[in-house]
Amino acid sequence: MMLENRVALVTGAGRGIGRAIALKLASEGAIVIVNYNGSESRAKEVVSQITEQGGKAATYQCNVADFAACGQMMETIIKDYGHLDILVNNAGITKDNLLMKMSEEEFDQVIDINLKGAFHCMKHVSRQMIKQRQGRIINISSVSGVSGNAGQANYSASKAGIIGLTKTVAREMAARGITVNAIAPGFIQTEMTDVLSDKIKESILEKIPMKQFGVPEDIGEMVLFLASDKARYITGQVICVDGGMVM
Ligand code: NAP
Repeated sequence: MMLENRVALVTGAGRGIGRAIALKLASEGAIVIVNYNGSESRAKEVVSQITEQGGKAATYQCNVADFAACGQMMETIIKDYGHLDILVNNAGITKDNLLMKMSEEEFDQVIDINLKGAFHCMKHVSRQMIKQRQGRIINISSVSGVSGNAGQANYSASKAGIIGLTKTVAREMAARGITVNAIAPGFIQTEMTDVLSDKIKESILEKIPMKQFGVPEDIGEMVLFLASDKARYITGQVICVDGGMVM
């Protein structure tokens, strides 16, 4: 198994893309901490699914927008398991609106969870990974952060910020045996995209060269690769998993 006994924290892993990432990492032997904010029962279901298949997992409630709570989460994981090898910053929300109509609150909420949440977790895990002289950090960005997207000023800014954060921390950590990469998913079928109207979905589909939406497992596969030894010489990269939307 590719990740035998490695400890992985996946934020927002009770549902959607985070759930698929947690299941994939566990299927390759990682001990997975399934972080959630509000979806307690769904996070527990993910843990049950992993343990039923012979894997190891546990839930941890934490709002990633809370700096101190993220510190407490890392401390607890390190106390319980002795190490933390893989951090996947997946937690994220959207609050779409045109810039003209976007409130300061809508902007701040998205930045606080999507961008600051990733900073909080990376900051609190950095000391431990440096001590270990090994670690993998994988941040979930978006094609909206690469190309921009009308109606998503807050979200695009947060996801572009993730890319800057990824490249900078990759440079800071490279000599310490820690890789930091970002994945920019295109349109993936989850509750986040289910809320979009059929008209919007059709217009997005037109922009996808492969003419199909992605599924959460497509992102899980890329996270597994980046977390594994096979990706040992890759850092500071942004990999689009998007059916060819961004080239
Ligand atoms: P989703 O189905 O809406 O799930 C969002 C996840 O984020 C949930 O597990 C949620 O946990 C968690 N979360 C939200 N706020 C949180 C907080 N304050 N603290 C901790 N966890 C929090 O969305 P998704 O489609 O799976 O998206 C996952 C990631 O992929 C996001 O970063 C998103 O921006 C990115 N992405 C998605 C797409 C797409 O097409 N779906 C495309 C590009 C990028 P609770 O339910 O426990 O609150």
